[in-house]
Amino acid sequence: MGDRLSRRFAEICAAEPPSDASILLRRAVVLGGSVAGLFAARVLSEHAEEVVVLERDELDPADVSGARPGAPQGVQVHALLQAGSVQLDRWFPGFSTELVEAGATTGSGDSTVTYIDGVRKASPPDVSNLCSSRLFLEGHLRRRVLGLDNVRAVRGRADGLIITAGKVTGVRHVPVESTGDSAADTGQVLAADFVVDAMGRSSRLSEWLEQAGWPRPALRRMNVDLNYATAVFRRGDELPTVNSAVSFQTPQSTFSRTTAAMVSVEGGRRMIVLAGYADNRPSRDPEEFRRACGEQPREFAEIAERCEMIGPVLTYRQADSRRRDFHRLDRLPGGLVAAGDAVSSFNPVYGQGMTSGALHASCLSEYLRSGASPTAPAHRYFDDVRVVVDAAWQTSTLADLGLPHVTGPYPRGYRIMTWLSGLVANASLTDADINHRLTQVTNMLVHPNALATPGVLLRSVRALRGQARNGSAATAAD
Ligand SMILES: Cc1cc2nc3c(=O)[nH]c(=O)nc-3n(C[C@H](O)[C@H](O)[C@H](O)COP(=O)(O)OP(=O)(O)OC[C@H]3O[C@@H](n4cnc5c(N)ncnc54)[C@H](O)[C@@H]3O)c2cc1C
Repeated sequence: MGDRLSRRFAEICAAEPPSDASILLRRAVVLGGSVAGLFAARVLSEHAEEVVVLERDELDPADVSGARPGAPQGVQVHALLQAGSVQLDRWFPGFSTELVEAGATTGSGDSTVTYIDGVRKASPPDVSNLCSSRLFLEGHLRRRVLGLDNVRAVRGRADGLIITAGKVTGVRHVPVESTGDSAADTGQVLAADFVVDAMGRSSRLSEWLEQAGWPRPALRRMNVDLNYATAVFRRGDELPTVNSAVSFQTPQSTFSRTTAAMVSVEGGRRMIVLAGYADNRPSRDPEEFRRACGEQPREFAEIAERCEMIGPVLTYRQADSRRRDFHRLDRLPGGLVAAGDAVSSFNPVYGQGMTSGALHASCLSEYLRSGASPTAPAHRYFDDVRVVVDAAWQTSTLADLGLPHVTGPYPRGYRIMTWLSGLVANASLTDADINHRLTQVTNMLVHPNALATPGVLLRSVRALRGQARNGSAATAAD
């Protein structure tokens, strides 16, 4: 079972573009033109004569950095996991080079700095980060997708599905400003033989299904009560060799209660986010923000002290991580899938969201190339999506369950899983091989089962014994 999951995960994470795509559909409609929707549209462009991206915001291919109300999180720091940049280059050859040429940055080895509870951790040499603002990344993605011959954007608010004889045949949509009570607000129908819900974590697809007499997917939530504050600084001559930094706190941390991350982004800027839980709310007051950076490791303190802050500190709150278990549905209309945050939305501090959305697109490609009828219920697609969601959910929720204010739900085997992950995490502070494997898992390059092998556990125990002999991990890692 474990091996099967790891193998399937590896197939979904493939880096090579597929060579066996064929046209199966007349018109596919993607609801939502954010990161997950754009990836889905790219995959569908190989299988449909026409792909329509229905989005309530104006999608301007010429605007590569503008904020938009439909994805308000866009102004917060977004880190891209390495599996995400692999998928970007898979579906958009040359994407990361193009982004860097346009101003994004990359870093690997010692230019990516990680602290756990204030202790510097070695950076595995072969993990590299592509750093840009989220808006810039999405803007370039939008330009590439809307530049495809058979993809176009339609502005409108999706309002429901047309389901005929058990299959999706269209999407109802209304003008963006519609209140629904005037003749001018009359909805329109976009015919479709395949529909992707990429409307984000607040998607109303479940309600639409229920209203049409179909079961709704179970919604699982874990309250995390997360508070974000992001500030942008002008980059100067400080820290010339540091590209990105993260200062993670475990629930046991005596160093700080605030997690911090810094990325060097386009336009010669650095973005810093401070994140706290429950009553720990990083301030939007600039001086208070700088002071809080001063309590973090030196990279944060130095930027806050030396660099000019550009614009205001912007805050954001996310109440929960959530997932919709479409894979458990026994009845589902044909020609309908969901992707991205509409399926699973995680605690953002682990940076899994955009990469998961990209991997859902890979699942879609696997499904459309599998020989399954695309207008039949997509159970096989959702089985693959579950492999991706379980992997990310396990990594992030296991860590979150250790937070004092998080009260469950606890998965079966929670205690042993926590013990094992603590063992590996502690060993990774001094053992380069364990650190490499853990980083591959946290970057979603490898399934978490790769850490649960006897070899890894034995090596971790040995590493901890070594730490005990030589003094604390902190001393060893400094
Ligand atoms: C504070 C914060 C920080 C984050 N940091 C990271 C990070 O570091 N790394 C990372 O990988 N991820 C991060 N994420 C997650 C990331 O933002 C999402 O996973 C990513 O945007 C993919 O989401 P999506 O495309 O599924 O949905 P969204 O980005 O939420 O987009 C949904 C789209 O659907 C449109 N829409 C909604 N309803 C309708 C409708 N009825 N009709 C038409 N259009 C509609 C919206 O306008 C929007 O464009 C973070 C999230 C938050 C909140």
